[in-house]
Amino acid sequence: MRSDAEKILLTEEEITAKVLQLGQTISTDYANKELLMVGILKGAMIFMADLVRSVNIPVEFDFMAVSSYGSANKSSGVVRILKDLEQSIEGRHVLLVEDIVDTGLTLKYLLENLQTREPASLRTCTLLDKPERRQAEVTVNYNGFTIPDEFVVGYGLDYNEKYRNLKDILVLRPEIYQKQGEE
Ligand code: 5GP
Repeated sequence: MRSDAEKILLTEEEITAKVLQLGQTISTDYANKELLMVGILKGAMIFMADLVRSVNIPVEFDFMAVSSYGSANKSSGVVRILKDLEQSIEGRHVLLVEDIVDTGLTLKYLLENLQTREPASLRTCTLLDKPERRQAEVTVNYNGFTIPDEFVVGYGLDYNEKYRNLKDILVLRPEIYQKQGEE
């Protein structure tokens, strides 16, 4: 699978160090607060699993699953909730955890939706940020890496549901897309 890479964008070591650093910052910022992390499935699953173990304050977590209308690589901004939270977030300190913020449309929808549920605070954490592609103005409070406008896979991120289990984050060789397109 790694041989499908045009290049490795971020190595396992770089990701591990960054997640630890994010966990420490979050622990400091939320000291003495009861933190609820909300991970967005499926992409943020791996990041979330590492992030919750890199904080050293008590933390609860929950997940949401959403699907974006539009083609695989073109977000329309219309989001459907496939799996909602299992609990009320009223009065809770919520940190929304995303794999990547691209156009920002998914995050904007989620923030607006969760804000109506009256959390005590609502912040965002993403492992990757592609600011060049932004269409909606969203605040990213915690960002792992700012990356160029390239389609990446690995560490939870997929192409056609594959590559999520890679430990590095990589850019696929163009032939991989072409081959799949011909199938
Ligand atoms: P947005 O609404 O910000 O455009 O899209 C966010 C979602 O699009 C992400 O949660 C992710 O599922 C998908 N996405 C955006 N860019 C990439 C990318 O480079 N690689 C992968 N695998 N998914 C991406």
